[in-house]
Amino acid sequence: MPAAALSPEVMAKYEPVIGLEVHVQLLTATKAFCGCANHFGAEPNTHICPVCLGLPGSLPVLNAKAVEFATLASLALNCEVRERSIFARKNYFYPDLPKGYQISQFDKPLAEHGWIEVPTAGGSTKRIGITRLHMEEDAGKSLHDGFADSATRTYVDLNRCGTPLAEIVSDPDISTPDEAFEYLTRMKEILLYCGVSDCNMEEGSLRCDANISVRLRGETRLGTKAEVKNVNSFRFVRAALEYEIERQIEVIESGGRVIQESRLWNSNEGRSYSMRSKEQAHDYRYFPEPDLPPLIVSPEFLAETKKNLPELPEARRARMVAEYELNRQDSFTLTAEREFADRFEAAARTARNPRRVANVLLSEVGGRLKALNLEQEQSPVSMAGIVMAADLLDEGKISSKQMKQIFDVCFEKGEDFPAVYDREKPEQITDASALERMIDEVIAANPKQVEQYKAGKKTMAGFFVGQVMKASKGQANPALLNELVTRKLEA
Ligand SMILES: [Zn+2]
Repeated sequence: MPAAALSPEVMAKYEPVIGLEVHVQLLTATKAFCGCANHFGAEPNTHICPVCLGLPGSLPVLNAKAVEFATLASLALNCEVRERSIFARKNYFYPDLPKGYQISQFDKPLAEHGWIEVPTAGGSTKRIGITRLHMEEDAGKSLHDGFADSATRTYVDLNRCGTPLAEIVSDPDISTPDEAFEYLTRMKEILLYCGVSDCNMEEGSLRCDANISVRLRGETRLGTKAEVKNVNSFRFVRAALEYEIERQIEVIESGGRVIQESRLWNSNEGRSYSMRSKEQAHDYRYFPEPDLPPLIVSPEFLAETKKNLPELPEARRARMVAEYELNRQDSFTLTAEREFADRFEAAARTARNPRRVANVLLSEVGGRLKALNLEQEQSPVSMAGIVMAADLLDEGKISSKQMKQIFDVCFEKGEDFPAVYDREKPEQITDASALERMIDEVIAANPKQVEQYKAGKKTMAGFFVGQVMKASKGQANPALLNELVTRKLEA
């Protein structure tokens, strides 16, 4: 176990080199090479057939939708898509692989040379290369527990056999656990926007293996790498990498040698264990799959697929920052999920002032959700309710204080904005003479601020508006109040 003994100075002598392999299950209706349903959670061994079981005489037929999704993902990840790619057999024996081989792609993958941009600690961005994206099929699952005789037996569920996968391999460009976290987060976001996978890590539709080595800074040769397998959340990937970096540095500092091995992360214990040594690389005896012709991605198909690319998260953020005058952090909040961003934009476009909708959503609703530790889906206020609040505010029919009071009630009672507004019908003082009396009082009580205003500090008007609004318990009509304050001060 890495001791906490490693000083920052020792750690700083070393540079981590990290590469990530991500497997994503494609969201097709049927499996990659047969007509079985591609569906998580069914009774074991109910979605199987001679093809995905590899029974003699059965022949695979490639799922066109899987090709479309893998191509879409390749384009979204800035890869070059190969016109002619080749399926290959990757041969190994394992109980969850009844065929004895996995159909994959080897030396001619579907796509290569992509990249994802990630923010760095220094505030700039860094481009992480994507070596390749290739298509392959998933294997079944060994069931080690959950049965009365699990102590002595392992069962197998072959439903997952033949599920279409895209394997996305990064270049060893990642230098810190935080960069790895960002890379995965951005990738997941892109894949979700494209709708090619649900990226559900708990159900295993997105899985991540990390290759990691350390070397002295300035050294150009790579150190010996260890592989951390099947870490099932991005936070755990970050934790596993932090652990592994320290572990390897400690081995080297104490005069030892890092061995090439696979390690399994245990998130409960916060440490990894050696699974098997990989002193000799596996020999998978790859050869071209004789039952499948080369996969041809024609220029026409590619052009057609390009048209289906959605506006991707980063482009959307940049546009929304400009369109709604958001700060960058808020743009991340609004674009985190495509469906939510779509709903927000559709609603905002119906409003008098879309920027105000963003503002109300983020500061009033978002702020309360955060304080109550609720998810967006748990909000009592609908998008239409937010638009109504923004419009009323924009038209001066409610003050921002009144709006806040209504939102307070919404969250207290779990009601939407229109219902509470209609019931409470917040009163407004629109009587000019009543407002003028209040303004006179405030002006009389604050001669110094009046002086500053007269001396040219026009922003002082806001101070008087605020004071009168407070005196009116938030009931002054904002538009009228603004107008009257300016008139009085200019008099
Ligand atoms: Zn099947």
